[in-house]
Amino acid sequence: MTSGPWRGGLAVRRMQKGQVPVADLLCVACWFHRRVTGRAMVRDFLNSKPIETHRDQCPAKTNP
Ligand SMILES: [Zn+2]
Repeated sequence: MTSGPWRGGLAVRRMQKGQVPVADLLCVACWFHRRVTGRAMVRDFLNSKPIETHRDQCPAKTNP
């Protein structure tokens, strides 16, 4: 899942029926963290390509 210099992760939990999904996006370069809860919110969040979006905006990204 990792490619390039950007390191971080997107974790989605509690996707079972009856639970409230939680998605966490963490960037270990700048320690940006974003949490989204709720099935519709998580779905939209994932569809918005949060990793790619943050990778473009990350203040700690390296440009050798
Ligand atoms: Zn970052």
